Amino acid sequence: MSESAFSKLSLAEPLARAVAEMGYESMTPIQAQAIPVVLTGKDVMGAAQTGTGKTAAFSLPLLQRLLKHENSSTSPARHPVRALVLLPTRELADQVAQQIKLYAKHTNLRSTVVFGGMDMKPQTAELKRGVEVLVATPGRLLDHIEAKNAVLNQVEYVVLDEADRMLDIGFLPDLQRILSYLPKQRTTLLFSATFSPEIKRLAASYLQDPVTIEVSRPNTTASTVEQHFYSVPEDDKRRALRQIVRQRGISQAFVFVNSKLGCARLARSLERDGLKAVAMHGDKSQDERLKALDAFKKGEVDLLVATDVAARGLDIKDVPAVFNFDVPFNPEDYVHRIGRTGRAGASGLAVTLVSPGDHRLMADLEKLLKRKVEIEPVEFEDERPRGRINDGRRAWRGQEEDERPARQEARREPRPASAPRDPFFDQPYEAPAREEAPAWEANAKPAGGRISANIKPKRKVAALFKSTD
Ligand code: AMP
Repeated sequence: MSESAFSKLSLAEPLARAVAEMGYESMTPIQAQAIPVVLTGKDVMGAAQTGTGKTAAFSLPLLQRLLKHENSSTSPARHPVRALVLLPTRELADQVAQQIKLYAKHTNLRSTVVFGGMDMKPQTAELKRGVEVLVATPGRLLDHIEAKNAVLNQVEYVVLDEADRMLDIGFLPDLQRILSYLPKQRTTLLFSATFSPEIKRLAASYLQDPVTIEVSRPNTTASTVEQHFYSVPEDDKRRALRQIVRQRGISQAFVFVNSKLGCARLARSLERDGLKAVAMHGDKSQDERLKALDAFKKGEVDLLVATDVAARGLDIKDVPAVFNFDVPFNPEDYVHRIGRTGRAGASGLAVTLVSPGDHRLMADLEKLLKRKVEIEPVEFEDERPRGRINDGRRAWRGQEEDERPARQEARREPRPASAPRDPFFDQPYEAPAREEAPAWEANAKPAGGRISANIKPKRKVAALFKSTD
């Protein structure tokens, strides 16, 4: 039997059966390390990114330990919340809740998810019926606590997942309030892609003698990801992106940008270029975001243009490439971003477009990565007289150009047309005001009008994100 076979764990039959049905053959490193520890009831501080199998790493042993409470009574009193799983975003909460449902499907343990941007009533009804495992985003959970829909005095396990991002979003006060409602005697599991000083402080306040588990050193990037940094003036970034996509034959990619405005603009202009692109940011309604995600998963969209907050934790496997259209403001986001590709042993490509004003951000990134990054020049294929557009090192380290992308975007279009060699790169400029819905919005019709059994679109969600991304 292999060291990492699930059968080594002596999981209860209903859980082992669910795992087998999921088709998992062996445990991932975080599972092999965390499951035995969580089964002992100890607190855990885990450094692991999304995509490493960490949901199963905490939920399988939690479910196993909750089996002693399993019962088929219809009385809500017999189904108090025993485990609380907190996540920073709706998408992530929904994904984790779906996975937990699958792992628990042969048991009588109940689970549900609550997050903002949705009608509270159906969530309230589920909570009132009683659930052993509650998955939630902090803001909406507090609403339910205040409305007395969620009673947390019998919670035995708390999972703070993507804890670093929860702090980034500004959830610390909410987390502190939620934790104050919980019994002191409990097991707390904290997962974070990085162990920043803030995370360590959080852990010191709320975890007792935790076992630290690291599947890869924090702040390092997956070794299977081929990373390239290209020096590109702000004005040429879009063109560089298109060229790399075409040259590399990239079928799908995440494209990360730093601002909501930049995100919407870039997705629109890529669409005008004839690429199937969709924007995902905090100002999109929940419905739009889920449709975008669904269209991307179905392969109807090639480029998912996203801000960090919107993309955090999305469980999309095997994305062949990630583009950092903007160098991230927060260097740790670089690690999160490129974690979207090269997952579970598959190799991936991460391309960062570095513009002349990015020298400070690059210096921060190099500090985090603890290495000097090689910046390569881009050689454009088309007719532009410059040929080689710049000298990579000089361009980004120099101070010569430091304009805001939004302002540049405004003055960059339309481009002067010159003898087209590659029609792909020379689509005529179209008026910026697009009345009709983009193709993905018109086409993406999830079965039954819903993306997930848990999600019924209700209203705009922007205000529920506590930061501008
Ligand atoms: P997570 O990091 O929890 O978001 O998991 C990423 C993906 O890996 C999910 O789609 C899981 O279903 C999948 N997964 C989790 N554990 C395993 C495993 N042991 N073998 C294969 N796939 C897994």
